[in-house]
Amino acid sequence: MVSIQNLHKQFGALKVLNGLELDIMEKGIIAVLGPNGSGKTTLIKSLLGMVVPDKGEISIAGSNIRKRWNYRQEIDYLPQIANFPGNLKVQELITMIKDLRGKPAREKELIEYFRLQPFLDKKLNKLSGGTQQKVNLVLCFMFDSQLVILDEPTSGLDPVALLQLRNLLQEEKEKGKTILITSHIMNFVEEVADRIVFLLEGKIYFDGTVSEIKSSTGQPDFEHAIAKLL
Ligand code: ADP
Repeated sequence: MVSIQNLHKQFGALKVLNGLELDIMEKGIIAVLGPNGSGKTTLIKSLLGMVVPDKGEISIAGSNIRKRWNYRQEIDYLPQIANFPGNLKVQELITMIKDLRGKPAREKELIEYFRLQPFLDKKLNKLSGGTQQKVNLVLCFMFDSQLVILDEPTSGLDPVALLQLRNLLQEEKEKGKTILITSHIMNFVEEVADRIVFLLEGKIYFDGTVSEIKSSTGQPDFEHAIAKLL
């Protein structure tokens, strides 16, 4: 689904991606972890064409992204910070995004899933952070793309919403989707991710399953195992 070769990106003197290589197969949940500033968001933005790499190649679903200007339409993306105008009502925002994308969407099912009906007529700036994030998740998943990229989907979510998100990710994976996430909540990552890639100094420092990380570090607890990777 995704193939990244020798990706380099530098901001001024700061080398953020430094020859990163990554292949992601279809169907599965891959978590990209790493310390703050390790380049997770830069990697995601490179996949989305929002950052232009200095060097390297990226292919998605078999074609080089530089040769397909509209490939971005085939990726569902949840940004770390969604900057929608706060005075828009939830329903207005959903309609606007649907019109902009011009594709069929299954927003009703997702609104029901996250129990957002009571909020449809409310302005975004009147919602709690968790409810806003649920709206963002509806916007992200409603187009049913095969590749989904979620930058910190857990942010602001309470334990019930985390459970809803976990179950949704599992269902979407079962449909055959490829889902890439970043998250700071290690319990969540441990529960959902089929594969973990750990970024350090602009490269993949570790690539494996949760149990491989635990056994390679000798730590039975995932959070401690991740801390030990550093
Ligand atoms: P992460 O998502 O792992 O926290 P980022 O990819 O956001 O890391 O950032 C990696 C580094 O690159 C950080 O030090 C950040 O300040 C820097 N950086 C990211 N984007 C830019 C930019 N547009 N201009 C300058 N520096 C940037």
